Amino acid sequence: MILDGKALSNKVLEDVKERVSKLSIQPHLVVILVGDNPASRIYVRNKKLAAEKVGIKSTVIELPVTVTEDELLGRISELNEDKDVTGILVQLPLPEHIDKNKVITTISPKKDVDGFTPENVGRLAIGLEPYFYPATPQGIIMLLDEYNVQIEGADAVVIGRSNIVGKPMSQMLLKRNATVTTAHSYTKNIEDKIKTADIVISAVGKKIVRCKMVNKNSCIVDVGIFRDANGKLTGDVDFDCVSPTVKYISPVPGGVGPMTIASLMYNASKVYV
Ligand code: NAP
Repeated sequence: MILDGKALSNKVLEDVKERVSKLSIQPHLVVILVGDNPASRIYVRNKKLAAEKVGIKSTVIELPVTVTEDELLGRISELNEDKDVTGILVQLPLPEHIDKNKVITTISPKKDVDGFTPENVGRLAIGLEPYFYPATPQGIIMLLDEYNVQIEGADAVVIGRSNIVGKPMSQMLLKRNATVTTAHSYTKNIEDKIKTADIVISAVGKKIVRCKMVNKNSCIVDVGIFRDANGKLTGDVDFDCVSPTVKYISPVPGGVGPMTIASLMYNASKVYV
């Protein structure tokens, strides 16, 4: 069965729109874009469009690549204090002269719609409810729940340990009582771990999950998105030969990607100020 992220994302966005329409104040998402990275520009534009569709006010602050770290931190501090602003997102990557961690740490946890601040990450780690869960793993959990994929008691393998996907994904599956293995580039015998897993979440950015590695009861979620040698958009999973074997699989495109944006809008509709 295909885990259709496109269809579910539309449903989630409809729900968010309805939720926003009932709020006493309009949520306001501010996205900060530093420099001229073309991919970042597209991501920011898509976030703004999605916000507008669900009735969330959105503002994009564009700063030149020459902006100093202090200036950027100052802008974030002002937004933290601004009662009209309910969500702040700083588009990554940032130019090299800016310390990403200082930026993330400066955002108020109650406006941290990406769920990247130490308070939100820490809350998740110690079993408290964070103000916001990171969008991609939260979207994946929504997708698994929509298709009634059993998480509790499942053996899950998360491939990748980034702060934005792999680590929070592992924490969120653990919170739902899965038994989680977090694999990375140093992991031995990764094929064996994938082969026996009930749930595999691959967030690497290279072809990792191939035909003979999977079992017939498994659920495969492909987070990866990159261009192959022919310039075609593809994921970490060899979809054509894996999909006939497994029970559930998410496609690329049309799987995790649309869920990430819907999940981000869900976050942006939460108001703590
Ligand atoms: P990342 O920071 O690029 O890190 C990749 C991870 O993969 C690292 O933890 C790395 O291990 C691991 N890795 C590399 N080679 C490996 C191998 N041969 N076997 C096992 N693990 C290996 O990760 P990311 O930012 O999470 O992105 C991962 C992919 O997901 C990218 O394609 C990205 O574009 C995509 N993505 C998609 C969405 C979406 O909404 N669809 C959202 C976010 C990311 P080490 O830690 O040991 O280096």
